[in-house]
Amino acid sequence: RRERTLQVQIIRFAGSRRMVLSRDISKLQRLENMRRDFVANVSHEMRTPLTVVGGFLETLTESLDDFSREDVLRFLSLASEQSSRMQHLIEDLLALSALETGAPAALEEAVDAQELMHAVHRETELLSAGRHTVSLKLEGDGTLRGSPKELHSAFSNLASNAVRYTPEGGHIELGWRQDAEGGEYWVKDDGIGIEPEHIPRLTERFYRVDRGRSRETGGTGLGLAIVKHVLTRHQAELHVTSESGKGSRFAMRFPLSRISQEA
Ligand code: ADP
Repeated sequence: RRERTLQVQIIRFAGSRRMVLSRDISKLQRLENMRRDFVANVSHEMRTPLTVVGGFLETLTESLDDFSREDVLRFLSLASEQSSRMQHLIEDLLALSALETGAPAALEEAVDAQELMHAVHRETELLSAGRHTVSLKLEGDGTLRGSPKELHSAFSNLASNAVRYTPEGGHIELGWRQDAEGGEYWVKDDGIGIEPEHIPRLTERFYRVDRGRSRETGGTGLGLAIVKHVLTRHQAELHVTSESGKGSRFAMRFPLSRISQEA
C-alpha cells in the first residue's frame, strides 16, 4: 500500500520531490531485501536440525536391529540436542517479535539495578559451571525505569555470550556503574574477541563471526539483535569494544531519564 501512495506522490510532485521519493523507494527496497533474507535465514536455521532429526528417525525405523542400544541412545541424544536448538530458535524469534510489537506501557516499572546484577551473576556462574571466574563490580546503586523482563533478558544475553566465547579458565566481569550521564551495565571477558570489521554488524539478525562456533555452543544468532531492540526501547545504547584474541567488553548505557537515584 505504501508503494502505491509513493507512486501517487511521485505523479503529484513530479520534479522537485523526485530525489526525496526515489530515496524512499530504495529504502523500501532495502526493507524488502531484509525481509527476504530474514525468511531465508530462518528457513535455513530450521532445516538443518530438522534434517538431522529426520535422518536419525528414518535410519532407526528402517534398521533398528542393526544398532546396539548404545548407538540408539547416542542417536536419540543427538536428536534431542537438535530439537532443543530449534526450540531456542523459536523462543528467540518470538522474543524478537514481541519486542517489535510490545506496548511501551510495559517499560515503566522500577528495576533495582543491583538486584538485576546479582540475579544475572548467579545465572552466569551456573552457566559457566566452574569453567570461568565470574566477578561482580558494583559502583553505586540506582533504579532503572523499564521492563524488568526485557532488561534481564538483554543482560543475560550479553553474559551468556561471554561464557560461550571465552575458553575455559577465562575471566568474566559483570558490572554496574552510575555517573552524571546515566547508568551502565557491562560484561567484560578475556575470551576470543572480535575483529574490528565485524563489530558494526553484530546486532544484525543471524550475523555471526564464526557460524560453527556459535552453533556448537547453542547460539541462535539472534541474541544481540534482541539486546539491540530492548535497548532502543529503553533509549539506551550498546557499546562494544573488542580485540581479537584478547577479549571483549559489551556495555549497555542508559540515559539519566531512565534512572532514579534511590535514597
Ligand atoms: P550467537 O547466538 O551466535 O551468539 P549473538 O547475536 O548473541 O548470536 O552474537 C552474534 C555474534 O557476535 C556471535 O556469533 C559471535 O561471533 C559474536 N560475539 C558475541 N558476543 C561475543 C563475545 N563476548 N566474544 C566474542 N564474540 C562474541
